[in-house]
Amino acid sequence: MGKVLIIGAGGVGSVVAHKCAQARDVFSDITLASRTLEKCEKIAAGLPRPIRTARVDADDSARTAALIYRVKPDLVINVALPYQDLSIMDACLETGVRYMDTANYEPPEEAAFSYKWQWAYRERFRRAGLTALLGCGFDPGVTNIFCAHALKHHFDEIFTIDIMDCNAGVHGHLFATNFNPEINIREVSARGKFWEDGEWKETEPLSVHETFDFPQIGDREMYLMYHEELESLVKHVPGLRRIRFWMTFSQEYLTHLRVLKNVGMTRIDPVSFQGCEIVPLQFLKALLPDPASLAANYRGKTNIGCMIEGVKGGKRRKYYIYNVCDHESAYREVGAQAISYTTGVPAMIGAKMLVTGRWTGAGVFNVEQFDPDPFMADLPHYGLPWTEVFLD
Ligand code: NDP
Repeated sequence: MGKVLIIGAGGVGSVVAHKCAQARDVFSDITLASRTLEKCEKIAAGLPRPIRTARVDADDSARTAALIYRVKPDLVINVALPYQDLSIMDACLETGVRYMDTANYEPPEEAAFSYKWQWAYRERFRRAGLTALLGCGFDPGVTNIFCAHALKHHFDEIFTIDIMDCNAGVHGHLFATNFNPEINIREVSARGKFWEDGEWKETEPLSVHETFDFPQIGDREMYLMYHEELESLVKHVPGLRRIRFWMTFSQEYLTHLRVLKNVGMTRIDPVSFQGCEIVPLQFLKALLPDPASLAANYRGKTNIGCMIEGVKGGKRRKYYIYNVCDHESAYREVGAQAISYTTGVPAMIGAKMLVTGRWTGAGVFNVEQFDPDPFMADLPHYGLPWTEVFLD
């Protein structure tokens, strides 16, 4: 029975709290802490059993450590923002507690999407005998585990991976982001990047696109982007020749994004305005709908999966594995939209893997470095069924 401290009371934090509270046989004690205590209290009031709440500024490692000393959890689940990853990892090292998150550390002044800062903690976690689990949401997270599952059960060698993320949901706003707007807009406005024949290749932002017929959704235009799981999968899938990441966007979303970028509203460097320094993207975030607030009116489905090609027993094989999640079902179950749901459920399962001792090890790990079987078995049980098909 595990005791967990969840940090971050946003869309994803709310789902993690719900799913941990539902799993009474796994999590005996839950504390939800965030910058705004009222958000934690509001989430706690909607849960099926009592949890503790606390206020914490996780940018402050010493205060976070003080909270961890008070709560004495077996594991800290970081679902605040990527900016807090290192200060929370420092606090975990100081207090001797395991760590996990769903997104790589981001320096506030640079959109980098790299694991290098967190991988640099490997030796410290190893020496402390502690596990740090990185990127345990859906993508990164389940998509990495899909690759590990394919490699373990269906391929001798994998040559190519295409991760395809489609959100065909409609929320009624002309422009909104499905998770934290600042992180989301940084991600989609960055240059595209993919791995091929031993090197990284770059493309202009959202300039490469293809139509794909997503099961249970239909044809959608998907755009090549860089995404952090490419960096870890290139290291952990031996012999990989090419890996790309694709995400679907509507024309309306792309038009808004283009205009916002052209007028400077997506800039992440401070600009002077009426005697104050403001970061345009942070100001834009204040104007956009809170992603969690989209949930009540969201209709439609997401489909996220991996198309994988390689060889098994000397024969070439093409394999597709995916999950479909319905926005309305997610809302009925935990009051969240499918993007928060598909991130929060794997975070809870990752926490379960650690607190029950199914995944152990001292150091900093990406999810594909562990045995995918218990995680894959839990996905449908906790609300994320998956389908696999052999295409040839
Ligand atoms: P939200 O913006 O909805 O929530 C973030 C929460 O973190 C807010 O409650 C915020 O508090 C809190 N927070 C921010 N700064 C601090 C701080 N210094 N100290 C304590 N709490 C803080 O984001 P989401 O819930 O949508 O996303 C959460 C994380 O999940 C992000 O890192 C995101 O990148 C990641 N993610 C991962 C995905 C995956 O598949 N791997 C997919 C989607 C998201 P306040 O409300 O007071 O500002």
